Amino acid sequence: MDMDKLVSLCKRKGFIFQSSGIYGGINGCWDFGPLGVELKRNLKNDWWYNFVQIRDNMVGLDASIITHPEVWVASGHVEQFHDILVDCKECRKRFRQDHLETERCPECGGELSEPKAFNSMLRTRLGVSDDTAVETYLRPETCQSIFVDFKDIYSSTRVKIPFGIAQIGKSFRNEVNPRNFIFRSREFEQMEIEFFCREEEEEKWFAQWQEDIWAWYLSLGIKESALRWYEHPKESLAHYSKRTVDVEYEFPFGWGELQGLANRGVYDLTQHSKHSGKDLSFFDPEKNERYMPTVIEPSAGADRTTLAVLCDAYDEDEVNGETRVVMHLAPKLAPIKAAILPLVKKDGLAELAENLEKKLRKKFITYYDHAGAIGRRYRRQDEIGTPYCVCVDFETKENGTVTVRDRDSMEQVRIPMDDLAGYIGTRVSFERD
Ligand code: ATP
Repeated sequence: MDMDKLVSLCKRKGFIFQSSGIYGGINGCWDFGPLGVELKRNLKNDWWYNFVQIRDNMVGLDASIITHPEVWVASGHVEQFHDILVDCKECRKRFRQDHLETERCPECGGELSEPKAFNSMLRTRLGVSDDTAVETYLRPETCQSIFVDFKDIYSSTRVKIPFGIAQIGKSFRNEVNPRNFIFRSREFEQMEIEFFCREEEEEKWFAQWQEDIWAWYLSLGIKESALRWYEHPKESLAHYSKRTVDVEYEFPFGWGELQGLANRGVYDLTQHSKHSGKDLSFFDPEKNERYMPTVIEPSAGADRTTLAVLCDAYDEDEVNGETRVVMHLAPKLAPIKAAILPLVKKDGLAELAENLEKKLRKKFITYYDHAGAIGRRYRRQDEIGTPYCVCVDFETKENGTVTVRDRDSMEQVRIPMDDLAGYIGTRVSFERD
C-alpha cells in the first residue's frame, strides 16, 4: 500500500489534516477531522471497554497534563531522558542517533557531527508574573500521574493487589524528527495501564498481558501476519525496565512500535516515595504485610494504532471493471456505521429514507445521501469504511422492507425496516456477551 494514497484519502475525506494548514502547517501536530475523531474515539472506547470496563481488577484515571515539576525529576525524565542527537555537516538535518542505521546521514550521505544530548520534554510556565511563574513540563507520558496518585486511588477505592490503573490522554514530546504521518508526532495520545502485583507473580502477569494485548489487536481486524513481538535485548533496556517487549506493525514504511509492555519493577513507586517523602508502599491487611508492588506496564499509542488500523484496512479491488477503494475497517471502529440511501429521490423515497435515518441516528452514527447514482453512493461509503448501506426502494413503500448491503462481500439482504436498529446495532457494537 502506498502511504501517499492513504494520506491523501485521509485529507480528502476528513479523517486527518495537518494542524494549522492555512498557516502552512506545524511540524509534528495533526488534527482529526469529522471521520477521524469518530474512528479514534471508537478505538479508545473499545480499549477502555476491553481493558477497564469488563475487568474486575482495573480502575481508571484522568489526571492533569501539567504536574508538579518534581514528578519529572523523580521519574528520571529531567536527568536521564536525553535523546542523543547528531547533525549532518552537509545538509544540516538533525537525527536521533538511536534511529540511525548507518554512520552517515540517511538523507544525503554526509558526515555526522559528534552526538549531543537533548531533552525532549516540552517546557511551559505556570503562573502569570515572571518572578513567581513556575517552570514545568507538558507530560511526555501519561503513566507518571498513575504512580503519583497510587495512594489516593487505593485508599479511595476497594482495590486489592493485583489490580491495575488505566489512563488515556495526551502526551507531548519534542521529537527531533516527526515523520511518517501520525506515527511520530509531537502531540499524541497514549493508552496506558500500570498493573500492580507481587514480585513473585510478575512473570505470570507479564505473560497474561502479552496474551490480552495480542488478542486486542486481532479484534481490531489487523492481519496477524503484519504483527510481531520484539524483545528488547537486556543491554538496551530503559533504566527502569527489567524486561520490555513491543508489539510492532508492518507499516508501508517498515516495522514500527504500536505498544510497549514493560516490567518496571518497583522503580517508579520507590522514586516517588523518595522524592515526595510520602510512603507509597502497599499494606495488605489480610497478610498484615507492607511491600512495594511490582509494576507491569502495557503502554499503547492511540494515534499509532489508528494509523495501523487505517493502513491495514486500505484496499483497492475491481468492481464492474472499475477500481474500488475500500476501507475494510472493523465495524466496531468504522466512523459511520450505516448510510441510508433512497434508490431515487422522487416518489416519496427520499422522505422515507430521511425519516429512517433520523431514527437510527439515535442508536449509532448514520449518514443520509441522495446525490448521484446508487452505485456511486455505495463507492463513497466504501471509501470511508461504512460497513452497511441501507437502500430504501419501491418495495419499502409496499411492505416496509429495505436492503442492507455489506461493504466487504457487497451482498444484499432484505429485512424489515423495524429490525434495522437491532441487525446493524449488534454487528457494529464492541460489546461482548
Ligand atoms: P519510539 O521508540 O518509537 O520513540 P518509545 O519506545 O519512546 O517509542 P514509549 O515511551 O514506549 O515509546 O511510548 C509508548 C507508546 O506511545 C508507543 O508504543 C507509541 O505507540 C506511543 N508513542 C510514543 N512516542 C510517540 C510519538 N512521538 N508519536 C506518536 N505516538 C508515540
